[in-house]
Amino acid sequence: MGGEGDRPVDGDVSWPLRGRRRVGRLRRRVDLAEAVAELSQRALRADEPDALLRESLQVAVELTGADYGTAVRRLPDGRLRVAHELGPQPLPPGTILQPHRERSYLLRVVSTGQPFLSSDLANDPHVSPPEPLLSRGVVSGIAVPVRGAHEVSGVLGLHFHRRRRFGRHDVAAASALASVVATAWQQVEQRERLAHLALHDPLTELPNRVLFLDRLEQALAQQVAGPQNGPGGLAVMLIDLDDFKGVNDGLGHAAGDHLLRVAAQRLQAAVRPEDTVARLGGDEFGVLCHPVPDEATALRLARRMLVAVRRPVEVEGSSLTVSASFGLTSRAGTGTAPPTAGTLLGEADIALYRAKDRGRGQVQLYDERLQRSTRRRRQLESELQAALERGELRLHYQPVRRTRDLQTVGVEALLRWQHPTRGLLLPDDFVPTAEQTGLLVPIGTWVLNTACRQVSQWQARSLRGADPLWLSVNVSPRQLDDTRLPDAVAAALRETSLSEGSLVLELTETALMPGDATRREALLRLRNSGAQLFLDDFGTGFSSLTHLTELPVQAVKVDKSFVAGLPTNRRSAAVVSSLMTLSDELGLAVIAEGVETYEQLDALQEMHCQSVQGFLLDHPQALPHLETRSRTAQLREPRRLPL
Ligand code: C2E
Ligand code: CA
Ligand code: CA
Repeated sequence: MGGEGDRPVDGDVSWPLRGRRRVGRLRRRVDLAEAVAELSQRALRADEPDALLRESLQVAVELTGADYGTAVRRLPDGRLRVAHELGPQPLPPGTILQPHRERSYLLRVVSTGQPFLSSDLANDPHVSPPEPLLSRGVVSGIAVPVRGAHEVSGVLGLHFHRRRRFGRHDVAAASALASVVATAWQQVEQRERLAHLALHDPLTELPNRVLFLDRLEQALAQQVAGPQNGPGGLAVMLIDLDDFKGVNDGLGHAAGDHLLRVAAQRLQAAVRPEDTVARLGGDEFGVLCHPVPDEATALRLARRMLVAVRRPVEVEGSSLTVSASFGLTSRAGTGTAPPTAGTLLGEADIALYRAKDRGRGQVQLYDERLQRSTRRRRQLESELQAALERGELRLHYQPVRRTRDLQTVGVEALLRWQHPTRGLLLPDDFVPTAEQTGLLVPIGTWVLNTACRQVSQWQARSLRGADPLWLSVNVSPRQLDDTRLPDAVAAALRETSLSEGSLVLELTETALMPGDATRREALLRLRNSGAQLFLDDFGTGFSSLTHLTELPVQAVKVDKSFVAGLPTNRRSAAVVSSLMTLSDELGLAVIAEGVETYEQLDALQEMHCQSVQGFLLDHPQALPHLETRSRTAQLREPRRLPL
């Protein structure tokens, strides 16, 4: 009687039987320890997690004599899913269990992390065993937690057709194998996490540039394979958030991050499941639409995304509207050889560049003309950079005169470029390019410093006793978005001793869009740094008269297109006179620009417009020319004096 190593431990008559059991238990424990050691090693390598899971269950079943061995995984949403089951009628992997909310011992194991044992499940007053068990003849069972890094990640269950008592060794065996399963799952998760990290942007969770390019290459490869693989038309979009830098600089990086996340979600929600939205870097996103039947569909998708992005976003308690610019290129599924990914991205980039040109919130489709004009513009850009460095920029000044007596009350600085081969260039030839490329920021600083210096010297030389002339400097929306502008203004004022209160910044209507909190703050900062603000080109943008009440400006310049219609065009006359009435109430001064005829001047005088500016009175000139002229207008033609 008794096996090897079997030794009686006490004088109990039944020792041979108890001894055999104990030996059996010892054996099993040794086997278990060996199996667990080996399986754990493999779990750490995470080579074949599914095979490992099967084997762990197999060992558990063999060592305990269970009829069913089940590994249940807890999904992130809390549902329980069968990862694997061994037994005569196993549930297929992936089966979602529907445990009873309060009486499920699986859920209890998950929530408490404690093992559960029952020798008679059907009659256990505390639990309702899951239906698939009882119907398969299960009577008793044990369930232990599979512990993840932070929480219970699943349950290992062993179930028996017969009634069976469970002891701590059973729990120990099941737990040891559960820990193997836990290690395997953790390794797999970590691997998946690393793989995910390498291909996704951590902030937005969107695919990153690497994954985007990979998907694009795959789409192109399918095009090569031909139309039998389905309609292979594809579209590539590059998307850039407008004024993102302003948010980031103005409201801080947390606000910027929030905005990026919201934009990412909205873009993603606006496309179809088969499309890829990726974050390519900074505030740039890429979209691959594939398959897409035609260009029109791609355009529609782009517009849908644009509308989605434009909805107001809550940032730090205030509501912000961001728009985005879209550059789009597309290819039909069949026909000529497909382009490379690089070509498509280059085209989308050119289109995006153009979209930005056209202002905010534009969708631009690529075509070849665009390519040529982009090349020209890029050349201009590099020349302009050189112009700034080589000192080819100049300032001309155009006086602003009081309508009543035509005395010069201010001057407006207007930028010129003395181009080495093309002669003197006007702003329309190069300011738009400078604006798009961001070069206007350093150029604007140059304008500000130069104008303040030149005019302060002029003030010092000539104006003892008289009211100092004010100096207007034009500021573009792009400059306004640069958070360093207020400091630049303050520095220019400090360093040049321009008379106090005499610096004016002229801003166009688009820069003063109402409801734009970021812009509004920028304006207030500018005023605090000591500048007055004028609204330039009134009537050309969005603004209605009612917006005037909301703008923090001291004067309004009526655009020359309205002045040109005076006095005969009824609409122009109506706009100017209602502006006069409202400005009067708001305490704003009105300046009419582009005055070219006596009739216009007369009409403006009759409407009590305070100041005028225009070729009739002065052309913009370099300061030395201007200084030699008297402050009173010398009209080129004899005329009756203004009343
Ligand atoms: P703006 O601010 O509306 O400037 C007035 C423009 O009208 C000037 O053109 C001026 O020469 C022109 N002008 C003045 N009187 C008359 C007139 O009687 N008839 C007509 N037809 N035109 C007249 P310019 O110098 O070519 O400047 C064009 C625009 O370029 C400016 O429009 C302004 O928006 C922009 N700009 C000029 N200098 C700067 C600058 O330093 N920075 C920025 N950001 N923009 C500038
Ligand atoms: Ca102006
Ligand atoms: Ca103007």
